[in-house]
Amino acid sequence: MRSATLPIRKVLRIVEEEVGRWRQPAVTRVARINRDAFRVLISTMLSLRTKDEVTSAASRRLFALAATPQNMLRLSERQIAKTIFPVGFYRTKAANIRTVCKQLVNQFGSRVPSSIDTLITFKGVGRKTANLVVTLGYGKPGICVDTHVHRICNRWGYVRTRTPEKTEFALRRTLPRSYWTRFNSLLVAFGQNCCIPVSPHCSWCRVKPYCARVEVKKSR
Ligand code: SF4
Repeated sequence: MRSATLPIRKVLRIVEEEVGRWRQPAVTRVARINRDAFRVLISTMLSLRTKDEVTSAASRRLFALAATPQNMLRLSERQIAKTIFPVGFYRTKAANIRTVCKQLVNQFGSRVPSSIDTLITFKGVGRKTANLVVTLGYGKPGICVDTHVHRICNRWGYVRTRTPEKTEFALRRTLPRSYWTRFNSLLVAFGQNCCIPVSPHCSWCRVKPYCARVEVKKSR
């Protein structure tokens, strides 16, 4: 359910101003340097359950060795795992990266598909990754809902949902379309620096006058 009172445009204007002071999320930086759907796809796969700095460094090391599906397949699973270590679940991710690259080469002419429905059929690719590929890789509309977006939208009272997937569909109904592609980058940076998971910085948060602070029991 959507909050009737949250002035979303005003709130996002504030978030946009605040975020300018902070470092951008790892996958956003990858996309800024090189809008390439393959790099966005692989970096996002690496980023799951992994700190941003670790994702950035692992992406750089891996793309220095291979930045296309064909070149990636020249690396063994072991080499990929060694290169991306210490990202979370690096062995599983190395195996998934090879599987995805095989599919790309064999079924898609080495081109990353730009459809969410096709992308989520790939091993290790969920809606979050698929949405990020279409938005950052192709500039197409999509809303990538990760743990930050899910948490913040619920704290604001903008949605009332139990899972990121439900949040995505609630946002698709309510969020002005002009914000879809940048929503994730904005809220990830905001969630890493201000509206953090445990004990958010409500005392200096400029969004506070508009925020319902749902389920925020402890803040600083
Ligand atoms: S007031 Fe607190 S809960 Fe609300 S957005 Fe700001 S930091 Fe998050």
